[in-house]
Amino acid sequence: MSGPGGEEFPAGEAGGVAFLQAATLVAATGLRHWFTGRRGGGSVGPHAALNLGLASGDDRATVEGNRTRCWAALGLPHAPLIPRQVHGAAVALVDGANRAAFLADPPEADAVVTALRGLPLAILTADCPAIIVWDTRTPALAVVHAGWRGTAASVLWRTLLTMMESFGTRPEDCRAALGPAIAGPCYEVGEDVRTAFVRGLAYGQDVLAPGGGPLKWLADLREANRRQLLDARLAPASVGICPACTHCEAAWFYSARRDRPVTGRQAAVAMLSLRARTPRSSAIRSATVSRPPCIPPPMRRWACPGGTSRCACRRRPCRPPWPWPRGSGWRA
Ligand SMILES: [Zn+2]
Repeated sequence: MSGPGGEEFPAGEAGGVAFLQAATLVAATGLRHWFTGRRGGGSVGPHAALNLGLASGDDRATVEGNRTRCWAALGLPHAPLIPRQVHGAAVALVDGANRAAFLADPPEADAVVTALRGLPLAILTADCPAIIVWDTRTPALAVVHAGWRGTAASVLWRTLLTMMESFGTRPEDCRAALGPAIAGPCYEVGEDVRTAFVRGLAYGQDVLAPGGGPLKWLADLREANRRQLLDARLAPASVGICPACTHCEAAWFYSARRDRPVTGRQAAVAMLSLRARTPRSSAIRSATVSRPPCIPPPMRRWACPGGTSRCACRRRPCRPPWPWPRGSGWRA
C-alpha cells in the first residue's frame, strides 16, 4: 500500500486498520510496532474513523470499539499500556511488579519504558511527534509523546537516560523512529514556544525559523527531537523520521491544529516480541517506580564540575550515566 510515509515509513494494513511502520525498526524480529492513522474505525464526523482517544469528545462506546478492533487487528495480546499524557517530561517505568497497577490507573507521564517482552505500550497523538525507541540488545522499549512542551523539557532525552540507568541500555544498540507529526510551515508558533525552546534547549534557536508575521516562528519538532536522540549518542542512521505531516495528510491522520476544536487521536504502538532473545536479566537493575534521572533545567546553563554540584537531587554522583550527552553542558 502506498502511503504518505514514503519508503522510510511504508504503509501497511491489517484487518482494515491502516498504519505506517518505520524501516529503521521493521528490519528485525525483536520488536513489533505501528503508527496508526484515522483509517479503519467506526467513528464519524470529525472523529472519523479510527479514533483511539477516549478524551477527545467522541462517543465512548465507539472509541472502545475502535480500540478493541485496532488491538485485535495488530495482533496484540491485550490492550497496550497508555499513560495519562499531560505534555510533561515524566517517564514511567513498567515492570512485572507495577504493570497491573499501571493498567488499572495509568500514571501521569509522557513516556513509558519497559524491558518486559510481550507487553504493548502506546502513545496517543494528533500532531505531536510520537517516538519509539528500541534497545535491541537488552532488549528494552520506550514510547514517547513529545509536543512542544515535552520537547522543550527534553522528555525524549530523559527517556534515554532512564533506559540507561534502569536497563543498562547502550545508545549504540538503540534504534528509533519518529512518527507522523505536524511539520514545516504547518507548525507556526508564537513567543511562548520560542522562549521555551531557547531557554530549555541548547540548540533551541537552531530549530526555529522565522514565521509569517511578527513574533511568529516555525518550530521544527522533528529536528529538536532528533537532536535529543543524537545527544544521547544514537547513531544518525539508526534514527528514522517519518516525512508525513499530520496537518497536510487529512485523509490519513488526525490533526489537532487543522481540525480544531474537535479531532480524534492516532497511536504509536510498540511491543518487544515474545520471541526476542533472552534479556540480560543481570543487567536489569531493580526499579519499580518511575525515577526521572537527574537533569538540570535548563540544560544550557548547567555546569556540574566533576560531580561536586549545585544540583538539588543529592544523588551521587550527580551526573548522567555514560555517555556524556553532547551539548548538554555536562562534563566528566
Ligand atoms: Zn503540513
